[in-house]
Amino acid sequence: MIGQQRIRIGVSSCLLGAEVRFDGRHKRDPFISEVLGRHFEFLPICPEVGAGMGVPREPVNLVRFQDGSIHAVGVENSGLNVTGSIRAYSDCVMPELASLRGYLLKSRSPSCGLRDVPVHAENGRVQIGTGTGLFADSLLSHYPLLPVEQESGLVSPASREHFIERIFAYDRWLALVESRPTLTRLIDFHTRHKLQILSHHQLIYRRLGRLVAETASTVGLDEVLQSYGSQLTIALAHPASRNDQVNVMQHLLGYLKPVLDHDAKQEFLLALDVYKAGKTPLCVPLDLIRHHFSCHPHPFVECQVYLYPEQQESLLRGSI
Ligand code: SF4
Repeated sequence: MIGQQRIRIGVSSCLLGAEVRFDGRHKRDPFISEVLGRHFEFLPICPEVGAGMGVPREPVNLVRFQDGSIHAVGVENSGLNVTGSIRAYSDCVMPELASLRGYLLKSRSPSCGLRDVPVHAENGRVQIGTGTGLFADSLLSHYPLLPVEQESGLVSPASREHFIERIFAYDRWLALVESRPTLTRLIDFHTRHKLQILSHHQLIYRRLGRLVAETASTVGLDEVLQSYGSQLTIALAHPASRNDQVNVMQHLLGYLKPVLDHDAKQEFLLALDVYKAGKTPLCVPLDLIRHHFSCHPHPFVECQVYLYPEQQESLLRGSI
């Protein structure tokens, strides 16, 4: 985040309490409104209202036509097809979303749903599969690196923390890209994010290391940035399991081996075991190892976003 400016994220309007659903109601989500709302600036959008469908309105379903194309068709009136209006509105609004660092969508909506939206057969009400809402589909193709989630994917504390982590990482990445960085600054970015990337995806961690260390000298920086950005996004979208977190913390423990006494090491290993067994949250072993590094600072460790996220991110993740 730059200065005190709040990070902007897009949100389906009904999740913030706007009465814009087909039946004139809302789907206010307290976690989004009250917790995320204290830290992020929201851009609320209702694609169906934006497409001129009005409130209240005839509800629509996703329907797969015989040619394989997906349409938004009236639930009661199958002659109503609003696909063109929703797609036209989506195309029109997409350029305005370039400043967003994340997007929260309403699940199961034929416009906003990110995944698992029921898709029906052309002639009937039979569900034949699942898909993505029309607006969400446009959002994903215009902004493939943008962290996007739906509210049903933010039920557990771990999933909430993961989404927040992705938003802040994307913000830092765009800040770097928009500053027209040198290779040295890309290497610095990579160094600070090494353990965070490792916690999410070991294969991409190794791939990005090679990209920065070897490929960057043989191909243009723009190409490296493009490749790095997409690999970083894929890595961070992958949830970090407890085993992944333990792996990173064992790696961190390696830096403390020369200075930590036997009892302190055993205490930390026990904290890792308890965390791995699912009996404590991640913050328990993290706080313990941060304490050890405050007594025994290490230059590589103290620049790691994994252990020391910026203050806003830390506050938000701590309030979940
Ligand atoms: S799910 Fe999307 S289209 Fe439906 S009411 Fe909410 S914001 Fe509007």
